Amino acid sequence: MGCEETRRDSRKDVNRPKNTVQLFYRRLFEHFGPQHWWPGETPFEVAVGAILTQNTAWTNAAKAIAGLKQAGLLDPKVLDRVSLDRLAGCIHSAGFFNQKAERLKRFVRYLHRKAGGRIESLRKIPAGQVRSELLALSGIGPETADSILLYALDKPVFVVDAYTRRIFSRHCLVDRETSYDQLQRFFYENLPHQRALFNEYHALLVALGKGFCHKSRPLCSQCPARNLGRLRLEAGVIAR
Ligand code: SF4
Repeated sequence: MGCEETRRDSRKDVNRPKNTVQLFYRRLFEHFGPQHWWPGETPFEVAVGAILTQNTAWTNAAKAIAGLKQAGLLDPKVLDRVSLDRLAGCIHSAGFFNQKAERLKRFVRYLHRKAGGRIESLRKIPAGQVRSELLALSGIGPETADSILLYALDKPVFVVDAYTRRIFSRHCLVDRETSYDQLQRFFYENLPHQRALFNEYHALLVALGKGFCHKSRPLCSQCPARNLGRLRLEAGVIAR
């Protein structure tokens, strides 16, 4: 049975998406436990990590952060003053290091301009305003901006990523082509707006994506979400 048929079948149950989204959370939390996101000793480190992990595995971003720490650069003032070349050299392991060095510079300049270089001061500005301003910085997309808002600035913002889209479209809860903003709205409509919940939920979806919901050969038979609603995999994907 496909997703369209599923929607027709569930018309009477108007609460189904909400129930399923919340059930997903409970099931994942029971299976994986708390994820303690985002790893980082300071909010500034978390924001830097959100930029460094773009298009690369977290392990590579973590090595770049270690490189910045070793060089004494993980500080807004120092990062603002250091040369682009030196910065790029320190974050080599994160990939796209020239682009990422420029993005870090832009972010730090914004932090100084807007909040005197203090993440704590940035927290006092409404989330919507900071989000728009971060998105206006070249190289900062919605996932990075929302990761900074949620994990560095403690704002109740739901972070969407490729795993989120894959998991919830496979379970017929959203369309595969849904935009970032539509997908984010789906969670706002179906979850209480709680920062701690948004923090944990995104981290659990990443754990599910990494551990089970692989792109071409998902491990559905062992997955903690295997019987949550209907399932429809993309053509050519083989569940194991
Ligand atoms: S692995 Fe299968 S059961 Fe698990 S979330 Fe992905 S599609 Fe659903």
